[in-house]
Amino acid sequence: MTAGERAGYGVRLTGAELAAGIRAQVSASAAALAAAGRPPRLAVVVATTDESTAWYVRSIAGAASKVGIACDIMELADTADSEEIQAALRRLSDDPSVHGIILQTPLPTGVSFARAALAIDPAKDVDGANPTSLGRLAAGIDAFPPATAQAVVALLEHYDIPLAGRTAVVVGRSTVVGKPVAHLLLDRHATVTVCHSRTANLVEVTSRADILIAAVGRPGLIGNEHVDPAAVVIDVGTNATDDGGLVGDVDPGVESHVAALTPVPGGVGPVTTALLLEHTVRAAEEGAS
Ligand code: NAP
Repeated sequence: MTAGERAGYGVRLTGAELAAGIRAQVSASAAALAAAGRPPRLAVVVATTDESTAWYVRSIAGAASKVGIACDIMELADTADSEEIQAALRRLSDDPSVHGIILQTPLPTGVSFARAALAIDPAKDVDGANPTSLGRLAAGIDAFPPATAQAVVALLEHYDIPLAGRTAVVVGRSTVVGKPVAHLLLDRHATVTVCHSRTANLVEVTSRADILIAAVGRPGLIGNEHVDPAAVVIDVGTNATDDGGLVGDVDPGVESHVAALTPVPGGVGPVTTALLLEHTVRAAEEGAS
């Protein structure tokens, strides 16, 4: 059923069903790899003492173990410099028992994420962190896209939302979300505009969108005035609240003013995690070593 075929406004594009389907396929692939003597293994490099990051990394490790992927968390000091982080990433890249590598943010002050990620073997770069992966994505050559960016498009496709010829507006131009989402939407023949903090008259641009992607990191940035009533809105934002909750970039009141909206939490997030795991088994299948 397409979003348009569902009744009225305020359709919730939840990620649970899609994520469960991906995890089921990953479980089967992981079991086959283990039976063939190649148990899939993911490694996460962490160089922060931030509690919410630790919680997120544990949740990835838990999700991995449920589908039969071993997950090593490599903890570096929060004072680690670029050399130390790159050395850890090179060791994992050279380790034939490791198939997927994630470099977790935030990194210590002064360490460039993109520069550090150059040390990840692109064949194991399951979260598209190495700039080589983004370049390959832009050039239409096989690469793992950042899982969050791919989750946006996977959700749109899961709900049969047409992309070809539609006007898509991406708010946010980071290399982990905004830019790769724009490439993935272009590949699917959407007409794409990318907005950022210097965009003049954001309301005027976003309200033209058939498909609006918010990837900023500012709670409630997107309000009713930013959306067309026929729009499908994907909220990538994950912003911690004082009471320990999570909110997106889109004001919750927007839900009743648009055709469809992803919830936060429960929209893009679960699909992102499932795709990280799917990339890991794919890397193992393709023989990354
Ligand atoms: P980021 O690197 O901080 O980039 C934010 C982008 O938003 C920048 O391009 C910035 O513009 C733009 N921006 C800031 N204020 C703006 C404004 N007032 N109007 C328009 N654009 C504005 O963040 P990110 O890493 O892309 O993450 C974005 C959000 O997604 C965060 O909430 C993050 O937690 C979330 N996220 C979610 C997942 C998931 O799995 N659900 C995964 C990754 C990230 P400039 O470039 O001009 O500074």
